[in-house]
Parts: sequence; structure tokens; C-alpha cells
Amino acid sequence: MTTTSHTETPGSRLEEARRDYTALRGQGLSLDLTRGKPSPAQLDAVGLLPLPDGHYRAADGTDCRNYGPPGEGLRELRDIFAPVLHVPAEQLLAVGNSSLELMHDCLVHALLGTLPGAEGRWADQRIAFLAPVPGYDRHFAVCERFSIDMIPVPMTPTGPDMDIVEELVRSDPAIKGIWCVPRYSNPDGVCYSDETARRLAAMETAAPDFRIFWDDAYAVHHLTDEEVEVAGILAACAAAGHPDRAFVFGSTSKITLAGSGVAFLGSSPANVAWWRSHAGRRTIGPDKLNQLRHAHFLRDIDGLRAHMRRHRAILRPKFDTVLRIFAEQLEGSGLATWSKPKGGYFIALSVLEGCAREVVRLANEAGIALTPAGATHPYGCDPQDSVIRIGPTYPELEELEQIARGVTVCVRLAGYEKLAAQQN
Ligand code: PLP
Repeated sequence: MTTTSHTETPGSRLEEARRDYTALRGQGLSLDLTRGKPSPAQLDAVGLLPLPDGHYRAADGTDCRNYGPPGEGLRELRDIFAPVLHVPAEQLLAVGNSSLELMHDCLVHALLGTLPGAEGRWADQRIAFLAPVPGYDRHFAVCERFSIDMIPVPMTPTGPDMDIVEELVRSDPAIKGIWCVPRYSNPDGVCYSDETARRLAAMETAAPDFRIFWDDAYAVHHLTDEEVEVAGILAACAAAGHPDRAFVFGSTSKITLAGSGVAFLGSSPANVAWWRSHAGRRTIGPDKLNQLRHAHFLRDIDGLRAHMRRHRAILRPKFDTVLRIFAEQLEGSGLATWSKPKGGYFIALSVLEGCAREVVRLANEAGIALTPAGATHPYGCDPQDSVIRIGPTYPELEELEQIARGVTVCVRLAGYEKLAAQQN
């Protein structure tokens, strides 16, 4: 490049500048000064949680230590979870560390933005969601947070009671969505039948922007040889002429590390574009290094399945222990029934009407902490005061045995007290 001299005329300086510019273009550079990104040397100086062999590049060569694409998350990880969640990898995003966060944000964006097919923002309307009960308390808490009314719908062994669901959504345009945990539901371990999925996908809704929040949190969390499959809701909705009806959620929270996992959102191309147009303002991109770690660790769908079989070997004896003690202590007593899940994380214990709070109180006083009664229902209110959620995954076997026995003692005490009061 030429250096300028004071004796040169303005015309010759311009000529020089043009020559320099032509030479510069001829170098075919590809440099980027648009973003304040840390340099590779800065990144090399960070010894934080290194990957094996200092590996930091995704399959497509992306430097996962830095800002930059792919905003939809690493393809190799999406490829592992696409068949599990029944979402084409192109329509599956790997973002954030918590699926609950994605459900929350979907609602926020639907409240403040306009969903594909919607006539306006949900924030400007009275809106309600159907809440199959018993259900997951954090779904209900998100609705409460945004003053979204919840309408309880009873669960059946094949999913929510679809006659009631169809009737409600047909007549009330304020009903904008339904919470679904299609596999090994929280807390009763119900798996939706294909017929339930088909009816959800096909039903006539008064709201043009109705959405199914399909939270497949326990997609690979099998406890038996029967690895229950559920229908792909996106395909079912598309086949029924409602391609934008479902949002699918999942995460590795209970596969790898809770709080340090990866969450997934899958939907129709229009919904995915809508999501990205909003979410792209909120974050520059997901934690690709964590995604890379996950892709390395799980490798492929067979690696994921093998890993979940190791979980099953740990968890199955715990569920068996609780179920055995419940059977020994409560079977035939008429005081309780309980679910016998084929997967997931919970057992739903149903005690005599009006006794759940008392059982939990008795247990707490005896030093056994249980999920508060009512948590399985919207607004913390179980009208029958009957359901208690039992989560056997964390305690060691010996401790679990003590807990299960203690719970059955409380169930017997509360139940027999109630029966005695009725006789008097
Ligand atoms: N969905 C269901 C049904 C759950 O039971 C849980 C956790 O218990 C979650 C979502 C939370 O998932 P995440 O950790 O991905 O937010």
C-alpha cells in the first residue's frame, strides 16, 4: 500500500487511494469487525470445563466457544433428539437449559407478540388454558403468573378426557391452549393413546390460534421393557390441517445434568420462525459448548438409549420398593390407590377424599417432607383433597423404604380417623 506525501496533488492522492482499494479487494479477505467478540487467544486463556482433547468445534466447524451461528443449536445434538421428540431436525431448536423456560417464553411471546394464525396479542384478550389434572405444578404456576385462567380437565388412563376437551374448546374462543405431558405424565405416569393425540390434533377449536403445549419431558425415561411410544403430535396436527397447533418441548434435565442440560423446542416452520423472530432479540445464541459436550457424551440415539438404561437400572428398584411397600401396607384397605408407572419420575397416590392434606401434614410432622397436597391441581386446589405426588428418584433405597413405610402409616392414620369420624 502506498504512503501519502504532502507534495502530491488531490488528484494523484485519489488515484493512489483507488489503486490501494483495488489491491485491497484483490486480496479476497474475509474479516469481520461488526461484533465485539472475544478473540480466539482470549478463549484459549480460559481453562473452564474443557472438552476431551480441547475439542471445541461443532461438526460443521463452528467454534462453540464464541458467539455466532447456529442460533438453532448444534445440528448433531438436534439430530439425536429429533426422532425422540418426533420433530424433524430442521424444525427442532436446541436452546437454553430448561424446557420450562421455553414454555414460559412461548407464553410471553404469545402474550406480547402475535402467533401465526392469531387475530391479536393474547395480552389484549381474556385467555384460558386447559389443565389436565392431576398435572405439573410449574405449568400451573406459569399460567398463574400471567393471569391465564386454568380450566381443569380430568385425566383418564389414555390422556385427558377428550369428550370434555372437545366440548370446551369448540365453544369458548378464550381457550387458547392445553398443557400435555404425553408420556409418563407428571404425576400419574399416564401415556396418551394415539387416539387422544389424533383427537387433540383434529378437534375443532373456537380459537384460531389454539396451541397444544406438548411437554415430552419424559420421552426416554422408561422403567420397563415396554418403551412406550406416543404419536408424533406435529405430524398429527399437520395431517389434520392444523400444522401450527403444537409446540413440542423436551430437555436433558433428567437425562444428563438438571440445571446444566439442554432444552428443545420443536414446532411447525411458521411457529419456529415466529419463535426465532422474538427469541433472537432476547439472546445472541445458546450455550453451544454445553451442547457440544452433550453431543459428545450421548453420541447418537443408541448412546442416549444406553445411557437411559443405566438410569433405569438405578431408578427401577426405587419405584419397585415404594410400590411393594404400598401394596404390603395398603392393598385391600380401601384407603388408597396409586399409579404403577412404566416410566417418568412419579407415583400418584390417591387417598380417601379429604385426607391428602392431613397425610402430608402428618408426614411432615414425622419428619418426612412430601410435595404439598394440592400441588397437582391449578391454584394449589385439589377439590377432592385426595392426590399426593410421590417422587422416589432421589433417596437411597434404605431411606426410601423408611419413607414409603412412614407414608403408609400416615395414610392409614388419616384414613381411619376419617372413617371413624363418619361413623360417629
Ligand atoms: N416438564 C415436566 C412435566 C416436568 O416434570 C419437569 C420437571 O420436573 C419439567 C418440565 C422441567 O424441565 P426442565 O428442567 O427442562 O425445565
